[in-house]
Amino acid sequence: MKLVTYLENGTEKVGALTADGKAVRPLPFPDMVSAIEAGLDAVKAAEQGPAAALDTVTLLAPIPRPRQDVICLGMNYVDHAKEAAKFDGEAFAKDKPIAVYFSKRVPEAVPPEGAIDSHPGLVEKLDYEAELAVIIGPAAKGVPAEKAGEHVFGYTVLNDVSARTLQTAHKQWYFGKGLDGFTPMGPCILTADEVAFPPALAISCRVNGQERQRARTDMLITSIADTISELSAGMTLLPGTIIATGTPAGVGMGMNPPAFLKPGDVVECEIEKIGVLRNTVK
Ligand code: MG
Repeated sequence: MKLVTYLENGTEKVGALTADGKAVRPLPFPDMVSAIEAGLDAVKAAEQGPAAALDTVTLLAPIPRPRQDVICLGMNYVDHAKEAAKFDGEAFAKDKPIAVYFSKRVPEAVPPEGAIDSHPGLVEKLDYEAELAVIIGPAAKGVPAEKAGEHVFGYTVLNDVSARTLQTAHKQWYFGKGLDGFTPMGPCILTADEVAFPPALAISCRVNGQERQRARTDMLITSIADTISELSAGMTLLPGTIIATGTPAGVGMGMNPPAFLKPGDVVECEIEKIGVLRNTVK
């Protein structure tokens, strides 16, 4: 199933896309996190209302207001770790990598077709990062890697928008990645039963139609299973937790010369089977 959150006549609803992707049927849950808490079997069994054409509703981010910060992995594709090290003037560490975790503050996620805020006067070097985001289903605590897949509810596309100057200046990345309007997400949650675990899906990013990033989601340095296992050894991952798994090479800071985003740019992050997340910088 492809699940979405949307606005219809001013009311926020949760629904399932029809097979052709052109319409949505409402589901009897007040919000997406409630649906996730009910579980995939309950969502599948739930009665669906009459379909509304997608062009008559407004898609929101699948989880518009995450109840906790998004958990992110940094430097989780080899080629991106190399380009980031080069940008920072550091040598790329070749040892067995230890996962880089940070979090992203998201009072309100940016919807599909919504605006990425360029924060004029505050932000320089605005950059994009196409990422596969994992949505946790059943709460995970002390989960071994081989059982991690049982705790995944589904997947979505997330753009880990980053202000490189702030990210670097403050040593920790929280401010440079957690500004308002820095977390586009969507267009849907693809439920975990639709793909093998771990998912091996093409991921790409285009800026104004020009391809910048292309990789596969099975090229992660720290796998989804290892991430869930490692984190859940010490922290409970509640239903609806969002884990952004890192971005592949090709971000603006990695280009020669670097090419950052500016107002009017259109950023499209795409993952096979999930869809295209399109946003414009304002
Ligand atoms: Mg990132």
